[in-house]
Amino acid sequence: MTDTLSPSRTPSRVFTGGVPVVVEDVSRRPAAERDALLADPGFGRYFTDSMFVARYREGEGWHDARLTQYAPLQLDPATAALHYAQSIFEGLKAYAQPDGSVATFRPEANAARFVRSAERLAMPPVPEEAFLTAVDALVDTDRAWVPTGPDQTLYLRPYQLATEPFLGVRPAHEYLFLVIASPAGAYFPRGVHPVSVYVSEDYVRAAPGGTGDVKCAGNYAASLRPQQQASALGCDQVVYLDAVEKRYIEELGGMNLFFVLGSGDDAELVTPELSGTLLPGITRDSLVTVAREHGHRVTERRVSLEEWRSGVADGTVTETFACGTAAVITPIGQVRARTGDFTVGDGGAGPLTTQLRAHLLDVQHGRVPDTHGWLHRVA
Ligand SMILES: *Cc1c(COP(=O)(O)O)cnc(C)c1O
Repeated sequence: MTDTLSPSRTPSRVFTGGVPVVVEDVSRRPAAERDALLADPGFGRYFTDSMFVARYREGEGWHDARLTQYAPLQLDPATAALHYAQSIFEGLKAYAQPDGSVATFRPEANAARFVRSAERLAMPPVPEEAFLTAVDALVDTDRAWVPTGPDQTLYLRPYQLATEPFLGVRPAHEYLFLVIASPAGAYFPRGVHPVSVYVSEDYVRAAPGGTGDVKCAGNYAASLRPQQQASALGCDQVVYLDAVEKRYIEELGGMNLFFVLGSGDDAELVTPELSGTLLPGITRDSLVTVAREHGHRVTERRVSLEEWRSGVADGTVTETFACGTAAVITPIGQVRARTGDFTVGDGGAGPLTTQLRAHLLDVQHGRVPDTHGWLHRVA
């Protein structure tokens, strides 16, 4: 364990060229308290004992990388990110493996996406290797917080924000990069339940040339009002249409979509193409690969709301599901739209949805061979 190392000890990890990861003394909650939280962690409610922090200053680059006590940040009231939302994030999970080790799932893809998000918001990117080092270091030091219950995980949240105290509108000269970790329970502890969705015609999530294809904080702020509208109509999630024609299905506020055409071994999958206004999900990309391996044809193309509705009506579209790191795969049951409501299939979780979900979870939790090298051993 690293918890007894003092800052003066030689650090074993390097963040970026020449910048060591300093490991500070951290006060750790007693095992009994931790185990009580891990028994029913929910999502995003509890955080581990440590966090990773690194600083950036123009001219100096990334420096002062450390594993330190999870604690509130002290920020100047003029902190740029609080005013102009120069702020990005990632989401990935660490999974307890059957052999007692801990692995993350395709973290290199998160690292690469984090660089793209930074570039879009004119922030200095965290080098991909440094991102991986930070995530590994945090999971390793807090590995006791990786839950081992069925389908439980440790959710990891890397993020970067502009910390320069300055109210002028320009890229900041100072940033913080942090990684925090939060134990997460099974997304569907009592079995997979389909969600209902509301097709928003009042609001769009992303427009061509905007920020819809990166993970920036502002995208989520803008999704809260449409989400409230969906909730008021009894729906769980919002489906967004393209901003130009308001005709084509894009995605949910935080999950990509798949449509199943036909059934059985011949079933085909269709997912909206990455047109520049969709967030390129790592779960989406993984499912395209897995479904093709299972012998299914997978097409990335535009799908209109009309095609979805008429396909459901004439039986062509048999299943629809959403996917993302947090929920893995969520079946879509009911659809509400101004032009009329409809139910996909029998409103339950379809067979291909169920099968792909089980397979991806099996890969992530190490229950079937990892044929793509998607698991990254951390600790
Ligand atoms: C994060 C996110 C997703 C899902 O991406 P994963 O890499 O699969 O977790 C989908 N849509 C939006 C808008 C997102 O922010």
